[in-house]
Amino acid sequence: MGFLAVLLSALIILAPGFALRPTPEAVDAGVTIALGEPARDDSDLPPISGALDPDRPLVVIDAGHGGEDPGATSPFGGRYEKEVTLALARAIRDEIAASARVRVALTRDDDRYIDLRDRYTIARRLGADLFISVHADAAPKNDAAHGATIYTLSEVASDREAAQLAARENRSGLVEGAGSAGDAGVDRILIDLAQRESMNLSADFAQLLKREASPFFPFRPDYHRFASLIVLKAPDIPSILFESGYLTNARDNAYIHSAEGQKQIATGMKRAIEAHFAQEIVASQS
Ligand SMILES: [Zn+2]
Repeated sequence: MGFLAVLLSALIILAPGFALRPTPEAVDAGVTIALGEPARDDSDLPPISGALDPDRPLVVIDAGHGGEDPGATSPFGGRYEKEVTLALARAIRDEIAASARVRVALTRDDDRYIDLRDRYTIARRLGADLFISVHADAAPKNDAAHGATIYTLSEVASDREAAQLAARENRSGLVEGAGSAGDAGVDRILIDLAQRESMNLSADFAQLLKREASPFFPFRPDYHRFASLIVLKAPDIPSILFESGYLTNARDNAYIHSAEGQKQIATGMKRAIEAHFAQEIVASQS
């Protein structure tokens, strides 16, 4: 995280006009403001568990969908995606908290709706070092599709399926492009620089997650894909969207709903997250 922190400090010095706008109205104005100072009032932020040392890195786990946005529906029993994402997020949180090497927080710990941009804004306000949005996939016309997929941010989708997924997931948030009034000119360039660094780190984490978690649960052969997902657009936090498996595949559906499956996914995640931060610390010391 060292380079990024230095880069962002430099950006704030270089562009005093764009960074510090902590007014409540400004928070709604989109990505530009995302590089500003965190709001002073933290009473609405979710609790942090895991390591007690505030200097330890923080991962924010985001349970996809919630409240009025149910996400996809399983054809096996009709359960909603928003339920299994919350169960998985809690399992991952508990696994990380138990090992207490890093700090962890959830964007939601109940059945509530959170706008996509608010999800990464929560992570930014908490000072997160890594953001993982947890989902479950659906392919109603292909019940053989199975396995986990990791998405990282790109303006260009890696294929039609990735583009369709982005369209589906982005539906639960604001229309893309809204609030982009402040994105012009130098602000946009500076944010792009920070975002590019975050995108590279996100792609590195995707590889690490596959490597660390493959012994615990199955990935699709083309496990790393790219899409323009709003929830991944924090400019300064490496972010992935994790599709844990397919609600439309009988085996995947049973696995991600089972206590054993959730425990295995949480274990794989924990190993990857801890390995990621261990690498970051080594990199910052060399
Ligand atoms: Zn989803």
